[in-house]
Amino acid sequence: MKTNERLIVIGNGMAGVATVEHLLARRSDVAVTIFGSEPHINYNRVLLSSVLAGEAGFEDIILNPLDWYEQHGIELHLNATVSRIDLSGKSVITESGAPYPFDKLLIATGSVPFIPPIRGIQTDGVLIPGVFTFRNIEDTQSMIQHAQKSRKAIVIGGGLLGIEAASGLIRQGVDVTIVHLVDRLMEMQVDAAGSEILKKEVSRLGIQIVLGSCADEVITGNGHLEALHFTDGSTRAADMIVIATGIRPNVPLAKDAGLSVNRGIIVNDTMQTSHPDIYAVGECVEHRGTIYGIVAPLMEQAKVAAAAIAGGDGIRYEGSVITTKLKVAGIPLASIGNIHGKVGCEEIVYSDPGAAIYKKLVISGGRMVGAILLGDLDGYSRYLGHIQHQEDISLQRKTLLTGQPQGAASIASMPDDAIICGCKGISKGTIINAIEEHQLTSIKEVSEKTKACTSCKGCAPLIEQILQQVLGGEYVKQDRPSHLCDCIPMVWEDIREEVIARGLKSVNTILTSIGNGIGCDTCRPALSYMLTELYIDAYEKEFDALLVNDQFHANIQKDGTFSVVPRIYGGVTTPEQLRRIADVAEKYRVPMVKITGGQRIDLLGIPGEHLSSVWAELGMASGHAYTKAVRTCKTCVGETFCRFGVQDSLTLGIEMEYRYQGIPCPGKIKMAVSGCPRNCAEAGIKDIGVVGIQTGWEIYVGGNGGVKPRVADLLTTVKTREEVLDITGLFIQYYRETARWQERTSHFIERVGIAHIREVILEDKLGIVGRLRERIDEAVAAYKDPWAESLTGC
Ligand SMILES: Cc1cc2nc3c(=O)[nH]c(=O)nc-3n(C[C@H](O)[C@H](O)[C@H](O)COP(=O)(O)OP(=O)(O)OC[C@H]3O[C@@H](n4cnc5c(N)ncnc54)[C@H](O)[C@@H]3O)c2cc1C
Repeated sequence: MKTNERLIVIGNGMAGVATVEHLLARRSDVAVTIFGSEPHINYNRVLLSSVLAGEAGFEDIILNPLDWYEQHGIELHLNATVSRIDLSGKSVITESGAPYPFDKLLIATGSVPFIPPIRGIQTDGVLIPGVFTFRNIEDTQSMIQHAQKSRKAIVIGGGLLGIEAASGLIRQGVDVTIVHLVDRLMEMQVDAAGSEILKKEVSRLGIQIVLGSCADEVITGNGHLEALHFTDGSTRAADMIVIATGIRPNVPLAKDAGLSVNRGIIVNDTMQTSHPDIYAVGECVEHRGTIYGIVAPLMEQAKVAAAAIAGGDGIRYEGSVITTKLKVAGIPLASIGNIHGKVGCEEIVYSDPGAAIYKKLVISGGRMVGAILLGDLDGYSRYLGHIQHQEDISLQRKTLLTGQPQGAASIASMPDDAIICGCKGISKGTIINAIEEHQLTSIKEVSEKTKACTSCKGCAPLIEQILQQVLGGEYVKQDRPSHLCDCIPMVWEDIREEVIARGLKSVNTILTSIGNGIGCDTCRPALSYMLTELYIDAYEKEFDALLVNDQFHANIQKDGTFSVVPRIYGGVTTPEQLRRIADVAEKYRVPMVKITGGQRIDLLGIPGEHLSSVWAELGMASGHAYTKAVRTCKTCVGETFCRFGVQDSLTLGIEMEYRYQGIPCPGKIKMAVSGCPRNCAEAGIKDIGVVGIQTGWEIYVGGNGGVKPRVADLLTTVKTREEVLDITGLFIQYYRETARWQERTSHFIERVGIAHIREVILEDKLGIVGRLRERIDEAVAAYKDPWAESLTGC
């Protein structure tokens, strides 16, 4: 039993409990009592979005289990709201009227949602049924329940919280519209150009977006919510409304006690309020005129408050650079510091709307003051470091957005106090010290020791790089298998083993035997692929388990028409084929005929009802441009025509494409063959690339020219075309059996390492080369052109 100084904490949320954790690390003799209005132990509020999306349950987001409170002798009062602070008597009074004396008090009451003045939205200060805020686990669970009987939801507010609420609700099967007062989404974090791309990405999730619209009245009928009316006279039907229009610091308790309060509770640089024994942290606080509504600054505040309460060692809180990371809906977005700039600021911008990537760096006086990263967070920590430390970046201008140091090199260039885990405010130096002191070797161990990477997990790649930097050659890259999805909470490899062991031969039986019996858009196509890889044709085919492109054997376009890409082996065609393509294009008034980057001809804009006749009249095989399979082989003209060519790239390219055409794979496979090291077919950025040299052929694997270009690794050098065909076949089959669904060869190679591939394929260390050869031969022999098959009915 602790009998020393008494600390009372009002608020059992993220900032309050983080402060207690830091305090206990410094002093174990303080008697801590925590009051929390919610009936729950401390949980990660950030992850409520994952709960709403059905990706996590309450137990997954608990930060401090009950044992933790018990182990540290903390007196915890749940469901207990403090209703008054008595400054003169130095006690807090709960709703039950009981006084609790304190020596020091910490106020961590967070925020309350702002309810906009919309007529009919509440009665007697209580939201009407069907209208929700998104602040705590009760809100989230009520929304999930209500969503089960709702068809149309409106989320009011297009900020971070609104987008997260909308993407969660769409996963609950409700039609969702975001209505936002301003003319662009997340206007605080993203500029107009970035916001346009963000809007497209959010729309792609199926969420409707209405901008510049102001709701003024909730319409009900028969006691039920029916619609939302807007100031422009329009009305939208809704059986559920979520308010995400911002938050306000929860300050009445402090204000009534007579503490200095402006918008938030005013604190100095040690997080002390206007009363010397009362401290405050979190969203309820106003520091140097700023209120923070995200976790990272609150964690910095918690450290400082703990130090001050423990007796003070002079550490001060001087404010935080505001950074936001959007973590749901698969849209990577980070916004750091001052992204709108001001007069005299310069902007370095990279925008690729097609790939949904937008990056902007704002520079003022040779220093970076803000950054937006949308679609690709590469460089996030580096930019955050530049902004936090106000470093002079004049000499790095040319490489700021391009040619950044990668991986461990980029980490090495960061100062020790650069924040790696934004959620918990853990610096690079703290992680390095923990690795060295406790001989940590994995992200999991770093996470357990430092608490970094326990929240949104976005810093995992950076921690991996730090491990690489500190441990060098000793570091064994961790394989982080993740579950396929919640329907089958098992990793890919284990599912495959179970499917084989139990002899399961349909997606439905797999789901009923080892899953939830239903499946989703993620696992059903994945399992369908697994079956075709395992059994080729000898399994039960389920049309509705296929990706939509595979259902139509064509690539669906954004206007609902299809693109048709006939196979042109090795990119070598004939006048007769060209004439047929031209005739079909004319006859069906194909709106666009395009030469692709892979040397093929794409007929775009074909309505679904014309697909069969188009394919019948083309009389050519499908190019498989729509699916996860072996696709094209790009070639240069090689020694046949080129003065520099040293090998016959045309013959080999055509042979490779013939042999492996359409074989289903976890991800698409693109190939290329060049006739000399000048490499005109760009074999270095293909999944499989072959380059002719004087003495034979170099075989490369794992290249990628997409969003994240990757130069392929040299697998081996051989003398003959037959050897190329044999080794590439072994590689394809090993990839088919071992890679996870949708894992491109570039990621596969990075995960398993090129050395491992060499050991398996060239040295036969696993003793499986014979079997791989047989299995790829079987897959080659089983190939049927999908259109020829459906047109002839065979
Ligand atoms: C859905 C959602 C998604 C979010 N996503 C992100 C994100 O991606 N990134 C990010 O950085 N931040 C995010 N946030 C914000 C982040 O969760 C908050 O900044 C953080 O939780 C605030 O911590 P706090 O301790 O100040 O307040 P809280 O965590 O709200 O804790 C305050 C606690 O005090 C209790 N309390 C209040 N008054 C009393 C009283 N009188 N007596 C007793 N108890 C009281 C409250 O019930 C509450 O439990 C998100 C928030 C939500 C709601």
